Amino acid sequence: MSVSDHPGSRSSSTPLIYIGRFAPSPTGPLHFGSLLAALASYFDARHHNGRWLVRMEDLDPPREIEGAADDILRTLEAYGLHWDGSVRYQSERHDHYQALIKQLSEQQLAYRCQCSRQQIAERGPVYDGFCRDRQNCIDRPHAIRVKTDDQPIRFNDRIQGTQQQQLQQHCGDFVIRRKDKLFAYQLAVVCDDAEQQITHIVRGSDLLDSTPRQLYLQQLLGYPQPCYAHIPVMVNEQGQKLSKQTYATALDKGQPHIATFKAMQVLGLQPPASLAQESSTQLLQWGIEHWNIQALPKQLTVPPIEL
Ligand code: GLU
Repeated sequence: MSVSDHPGSRSSSTPLIYIGRFAPSPTGPLHFGSLLAALASYFDARHHNGRWLVRMEDLDPPREIEGAADDILRTLEAYGLHWDGSVRYQSERHDHYQALIKQLSEQQLAYRCQCSRQQIAERGPVYDGFCRDRQNCIDRPHAIRVKTDDQPIRFNDRIQGTQQQQLQQHCGDFVIRRKDKLFAYQLAVVCDDAEQQITHIVRGSDLLDSTPRQLYLQQLLGYPQPCYAHIPVMVNEQGQKLSKQTYATALDKGQPHIATFKAMQVLGLQPPASLAQESSTQLLQWGIEHWNIQALPKQLTVPPIEL
């Protein structure tokens, strides 16, 4: 699917409206895997003369590392990845997420669930809707779940092609606010993508599986559907899948062009060797001009770890 196939796009005579974003969670410093996602979303946005926003998804304090949010922003700056507007922090947006919980609950689309992890596991891998029709006590700890249905959710990913998932089979009624009162990623991401009028999402394929839940929430809330592109999984030179953790080493802020050059090669760009000596600004400019999402390899083969 090309960008112009996006439902929100205009005919070729009117300019495409493009607002993209990079949305890191401050659970550690920016590493090579997150640089690939940042660069892919940046190149795609800038190649289409779009805006590129940065949103800090600091929703889950127990998983966050102090100072990581600032460190991520300083690294983006050091790499020349300058964003538009100001950074949005999800930690400042709890009232908005709570308002959506209230709206969905009032519409009988969400409900309180007091099941323990153990009870859920005992009844099957997928949540069975046990609390759906129970009037659970407001004073006891409870999660909030959204009701799902058996309609297949389909979408066309610009990289991964046609995707389909049936939520009731895949995950059942899913959590939008956790028992510890933290808002779930699925709800917050949908709320902010809509409010920030994001039209195009380019991110790692670890989130491909979450996308149908996000499309479903967009549908319930009457939000427009952005166009999605999930960059392929990372593999090593032997073709073995790598976790993000394997590449968790912090990027070197002092040598941005080395990692940028490698990341561009991994993303299927073929920067001329002469550019390896140039500044990262020149490298990025070359990347913007030559970006072609269709040229991404099926798997991203990353170089050995000493980055
Ligand atoms: N915050 C998520 C992460 O760091 C990314 C969310 C998104 O791009 O939708 O994995």
